[in-house]
Amino acid sequence: MNADALRSIKQDMAHHVHPQSNLRQHAEQGPLMITHGKGVFIYDSEGREIIDGFSGLGCVSLGYNNERLVNAAIRQMNTLPFAPTFYNRSHPRVAELGERLIDMAPSGMNRVMFQCSGSEANDTAIKLLWYTNTARGEPQRRKIIGRVRGYHGNTIATVSLSGQPHMHAKFGLPLPEFKHTELPNYYRFHIDGESEEEFSGRMAAKFEELILAEGPETVAAFFAEPAISGGGALMPPEGYWREMQAVLRKYDIKLLADEVVCGFGRTGNMWGSQTWGLEPDMVSCAKALSAAFFPISALMFKDALYADMIKNSDEVGTFGHGYTYAGHPVGAAVSLEALDIYDEIDLVGQVRRVSKRFLENCHAMADHPLVAEVRGVGLFCGFELMKDAKAREPFDPAWKVGELVQNFAHDRGLYLRAIGDRMSFMPPLIINEDEIDIATERFKGALDDAWAVIKAKM
Ligand code: PMP
Repeated sequence: MNADALRSIKQDMAHHVHPQSNLRQHAEQGPLMITHGKGVFIYDSEGREIIDGFSGLGCVSLGYNNERLVNAAIRQMNTLPFAPTFYNRSHPRVAELGERLIDMAPSGMNRVMFQCSGSEANDTAIKLLWYTNTARGEPQRRKIIGRVRGYHGNTIATVSLSGQPHMHAKFGLPLPEFKHTELPNYYRFHIDGESEEEFSGRMAAKFEELILAEGPETVAAFFAEPAISGGGALMPPEGYWREMQAVLRKYDIKLLADEVVCGFGRTGNMWGSQTWGLEPDMVSCAKALSAAFFPISALMFKDALYADMIKNSDEVGTFGHGYTYAGHPVGAAVSLEALDIYDEIDLVGQVRRVSKRFLENCHAMADHPLVAEVRGVGLFCGFELMKDAKAREPFDPAWKVGELVQNFAHDRGLYLRAIGDRMSFMPPLIINEDEIDIATERFKGALDDAWAVIKAKM
């Protein structure tokens, strides 16, 4: 390792406290220091080339070098590096981005608010629902339902909504307004002999039971990703969205589609909502909106909600919510350029084309002794690792099988994410078939390496 890399690691270990990280491990081993990137590859401080099979954090849609995005940022920085969108002020790029997003949004959205992160977009949605329900004369309609293992962000409200126990324990969370319904993981939780359709019906019945127990008049919305990413790349079972949406309609409960990961092509359509037939009232998006070259997010919603916002504005008409960098001109300019690139490269067509090879290669690993289930769509694939696939018996969590596979994959030059014993594989959307072959070969090698260790324990 060279002197610069050593210095960076020392600096980092001395002062930098990392989010979502194991603090003890960091103190002992230090960080994995990534120094640069190119295409689908990242390079660490030891000069190793690694295929990024997790697109950063599911966001680096166009890979790590893109001159057009860089130049769009420079042009905007030279013209107007900052302008607030508070106090009825605007600038051309954010106005244009708003129009552009509404034109392409699923399910007839009419309005958009900007933020800097997925968490802020979902947090804004929660506040907006509370605000509009007050305007509608239903201030008690405050409860928001998410799903066990779902993830919608890390503000105090959005992490409450997320069904991640380790993000609640010791923080005194979740807040009381946030409830969680079942995780629709058909493979793990179906009853023997139950079809996917029957399982979905059972999930919807459980959802209705929760709504009735809480009181439907107190439930504002259900927030869900079209397919769950944070809980380990879980595709919705057959009929799931049809059944869930029927329950929502019955009780006049709003649906927010969290498109932070699924949005912008990941599932082989522009939106996950299109892949699975969701008709949301609100849509949040972030990450690939700017191809991760600038932090920006958006919350879109329908005119009906907007009408309630207007109704509830105080005597001077102010909507009292927003962030300094909402609709940042550089973020807006970079996002507009990203959307242009998506059009020009036919992003959805590209994902559909290469995902054939990707999914074929992934499914070819389904009979590996560590793998119980492979599920995927587009460039979004999850692997369930189990001790006994047929009996659906998990490994002892202390064996940390997912982490073992992740580490072996890294040694072979592939970054993948383990969520417990679920592997999430979602490479940049510009990946080509040769790179897919290399990545999946490395993944297969990592499974073999891990199996050699695990077999010896069994
Ligand atoms: N929703 C989903 C589905 C996400 O995956 C994430 C982030 N991984 C968020 C919301 C929160 O986004 P951010 O980290 O930008 O706040």
